Amino acid sequence: MKFYHEGAKEIPIIAETEILVAGGGPAGVGAAIAAARCGAKVMLIEKCGYLGGVATAGMMSHWSGAVHCSLLKEIMKKTAQSTSLPLEYAPELTEHDFNWSIPHECQKQVLFQMMREAGVTVQVHTMAVAVIKDGNKVKGVITESKSGREAIMAKAVIDATGDGDIAAFAGAKYLLGREEDNACQPVTLMFRIGGVDYARAVFPHSFETFIDLPAGEIQALGKAHLPAPAGHVLLYRNLLPGEVTVNMTNVTGINGTDVRDLTRAEMECREQMDQIVKFLRKFVPGYEKCYLTASGEMTGIRETRHFKGVITLTPEDIVEAKVFDDWIAVKNYFNFDIHNIKGAGLDSNGAQKFFRAKGEYTIPYRACVPEKIDGLLLSGRNISGTHKAHSNYRVMGICLNIGVGVGTAAATAVQAGVELRNADIKNVQQILLANGTEL
Ligand SMILES: Cc1cc2nc3c(=O)[nH]c(=O)nc-3n(C[C@H](O)[C@H](O)[C@H](O)COP(=O)(O)OP(=O)(O)OC[C@H]3O[C@@H](n4cnc5c(N)ncnc54)[C@H](O)[C@@H]3O)c2cc1C
Repeated sequence: MKFYHEGAKEIPIIAETEILVAGGGPAGVGAAIAAARCGAKVMLIEKCGYLGGVATAGMMSHWSGAVHCSLLKEIMKKTAQSTSLPLEYAPELTEHDFNWSIPHECQKQVLFQMMREAGVTVQVHTMAVAVIKDGNKVKGVITESKSGREAIMAKAVIDATGDGDIAAFAGAKYLLGREEDNACQPVTLMFRIGGVDYARAVFPHSFETFIDLPAGEIQALGKAHLPAPAGHVLLYRNLLPGEVTVNMTNVTGINGTDVRDLTRAEMECREQMDQIVKFLRKFVPGYEKCYLTASGEMTGIRETRHFKGVITLTPEDIVEAKVFDDWIAVKNYFNFDIHNIKGAGLDSNGAQKFFRAKGEYTIPYRACVPEKIDGLLLSGRNISGTHKAHSNYRVMGICLNIGVGVGTAAATAVQAGVELRNADIKNVQQILLANGTEL
């Protein structure tokens, strides 16, 4: 490969903050709101033009896992009160009526509103592209946007970019994907269809939901008629009349940190969409007249980097419902959601309907602290865990829950003037309990 040597240049420091959160998905939203509510000066930067990450930009169907998280309840309650919802739903709807499904446009508004109320300085259309380090300590982040290349200095940086871009720039150790071969879970561009007759429609919501239709069993029909590696049928109710959220595009062999792979994924997913609509019209009752209404801004990436933390979460910790002394997120529950790395459906190591655990598990603070880098915390799907454990905690409810814990810990450490890895976790736990966490 040829190289071009880019010369050094001065760039403006546009902000100096206590806590800088990079990434405005569930993990970043949780971290920023929690830290600000603890009284810290918080700034959040996000590559898209709004917040929510996969929940909104990824056009996700519903929030899963950690449904006890008080911030998630708050988000859903505020979403339920949104004026922009169809009139037949608002305003009587409670957060529980939603079953955690996502009216994407309303949730984009709600998340901005919550940032304003918490006093977080938000800057969207801003990509973190490098870190500023002193030895092994992160001191800030370099960004690129329409305003050019700029620097933001911070006492603590929280990496909530999903892929852990900041931690990777900082030189934190990580493994990509599955331990044995670095293969990552397949990617999916979510989309919505309209024109569905809800009175007759079916909603297969997992790979293990089998429905007999006049033409045959729905998952078998998917395997036979959809373009591989698509082939499973996952359809979710939406709050918009006649609309259904579709989780059926599927591309394998993608490294979500490689822009050329991402380009291939976007193009292949969009090619699959037409064939999926045709399939639904032909085989699935209630979908005869369906049509494409909207698609995610970005192909959803399930898995990329797993960082080496002070400790690494394992599948056994999850199945045993382990309560870590240094818990920062409690009452997490989900299955091992590993999609087939080579094709459609579930991987042989995955378990959805047949998943069994002793109870809800906790996330230890040490899994959010990179082993050797200071000034930096991990939040969301990029925390330290194995490929299999990650398939469980990667869901948005749990990522939000982790964010709340990490943001609280960061604020506490900055206010006490100690290294992030030395945050007083007993104090953090007391604050979390006082702020709505239920044991
Ligand atoms: C297809 C698919 C289906 C899923 N289904 C479900 C489901 O049904 N329920 C569920 O709860 N979860 C589901 N998940 C999992 C879940 O959506 C993600 O794992 C979760 O959103 C991760 O949260 P996060 O905040 O860590 O990352 P993300 O949601 O990915 O948010 C990261 C944010 O950081 C921003 N960002 C990235 N890099 C940078 C950068 N360098 N600078 C600035 N900003 C940056 C991104 O734009 C994004 O907004 C699904 C995921 C996928 C892909």
